[in-house]
Amino acid sequence: MSDQSTFDVVVLGAGSGGYACALRCSQLGLSVALIEKGKLGGTCLHLGCIPTKALLHVAEVADSAREAGRFGVRASLDGIDMADVKAYRDSVVGRLFKGLTGLIASRGITVVEGEGRLVAPDTVEVAGEPYVGRHVVLASGSYARSLPGLEVDGVTVLTSEHALELDRVPASAIVLGGGVIGCEFASVWRSFGAEVTVLEALPRLVAGEDEAVSKALARQFKKRGIKVRLDTPFVGLEQTPGGVRVTVTGGEVLSADVLLVAVGRGPSTAGLGCAEQGIELDGQFVKTDERCRTSLPTVFAVGDIVRGPQLAHRGFQQGIFVAEEIAGLAPEAVADERIPRVTYSEPEAASVGLTEAAARTRFGDDGVETVTYDLGGNGKSQILGTQGFVKLVRRTDGPVVGVHMVGSRVGELIGEAQLIVGWEAHPEDVAPFVHAHPTQGEALGEALLALGGTPLHAHA
Ligand SMILES: Cc1cc2nc3c(=O)[nH]c(=O)nc-3n(C[C@H](O)[C@H](O)[C@H](O)COP(=O)(O)OP(=O)(O)OC[C@H]3O[C@@H](n4cnc5c(N)ncnc54)[C@H](O)[C@@H]3O)c2cc1C
Repeated sequence: MSDQSTFDVVVLGAGSGGYACALRCSQLGLSVALIEKGKLGGTCLHLGCIPTKALLHVAEVADSAREAGRFGVRASLDGIDMADVKAYRDSVVGRLFKGLTGLIASRGITVVEGEGRLVAPDTVEVAGEPYVGRHVVLASGSYARSLPGLEVDGVTVLTSEHALELDRVPASAIVLGGGVIGCEFASVWRSFGAEVTVLEALPRLVAGEDEAVSKALARQFKKRGIKVRLDTPFVGLEQTPGGVRVTVTGGEVLSADVLLVAVGRGPSTAGLGCAEQGIELDGQFVKTDERCRTSLPTVFAVGDIVRGPQLAHRGFQQGIFVAEEIAGLAPEAVADERIPRVTYSEPEAASVGLTEAAARTRFGDDGVETVTYDLGGNGKSQILGTQGFVKLVRRTDGPVVGVHMVGSRVGELIGEAQLIVGWEAHPEDVAPFVHAHPTQGEALGEALLALGGTPLHAHA
């Protein structure tokens, strides 16, 4: 079905969720309009995953140069040239953007540039033009939130967007919020030589992760010279000629060149027309069932505007799911619980499935077994000089329901962890699969052996 402005599917927002949905729709022979007010690729490509991971790679290079002597390599870190860092980062983003733009063009997707608004259950309007769809998919993403009394000016009080554009390394930084984005920027700035303090109101960093992960990350951040202040709510901000003065609970005042506000992201639903069209909201989030359907039968929602882990790969998967659902393929719903999570700081934290605490709540104390394998026994981790662990959570005599890891590069192990949890594998089923030596994957293998009752490289 398609005349100039009538489509099988109209997608509002071309970030991870929206463009994945559009690509899969076109693969399935559906006509699609993809509406975007900014750039194809959205937050992930331009302001999120890719540029931050490029920065974290630069941070790793800086750390390697700084610590080269430890490995017998004579080198020195003479400085960070932010103009060159930006050029490198932009070249990565630019190549991916060019590829994505070409891919979308080659699939016959109608890209509409401009701000869209839902004006009827089947119609999105852009600059006065209606785009009608048999189905509409909302994928407008999220924005950086702030706190009352905290005005972001983009100069000394920053969101992640401003932090990415900073043309200098701050001598000192306060990071407000010890979630994923806060931890990643704290890690980058520390590697670049800044004095960094992380302020977190909760008792731990990355509070959604297993407690052991939060503790290990805080310990290793402290070792790296990052000050970690837990249970320390923000009270007030004063801007000074040289930077910021932040008052925390108890009245203590901390000073720094910049303050990064990393207190979470809110769904971008203001002005979208949801409430006017009778779409049920959950706070600012769009409410959906597990099949991404809103309260209007023609309208779906995917990605960060739906409550749950705000991660690019969740958006992708939901976008693909919705395309297949519309095409009548009856796909399996995307379970938030099985979405892998990685914090790409140094060290990294990677996990999938239930934390130990969540598993105990669900299955009872007797219903859960855990094992933690220390990376101290893993050859490759020793070569890299990293510390950390692989922790497995299983139902007693049942499948592995959670994998939690800390250490340099452990994010790369999440694929295997995800297969184990996703396939509801018992440790005994997967322990016989051989891992190449020496790899960090062996640590996962050892943890599986231990959980299955036959530990090899473990002290009794
Ligand atoms: C600093 C940072 C680092 C991150 N790192 C990671 C990471 O390493 N891994 C990971 O998985 N996730 C990461 N994320 C999260 C990830 O970027 C998001 O989960 C993902 O982009 C969400 O996809 P989305 O499609 O829901 O929304 P978005 O990617 O935000 O896309 C929404 C799009 O809709 C457009 N839009 C909004 N309203 C309208 C309108 N009315 N009309 C037209 N267009 C509109 C926007 O311009 C935008 O392009 C990071 C986020 C940030 C901020």
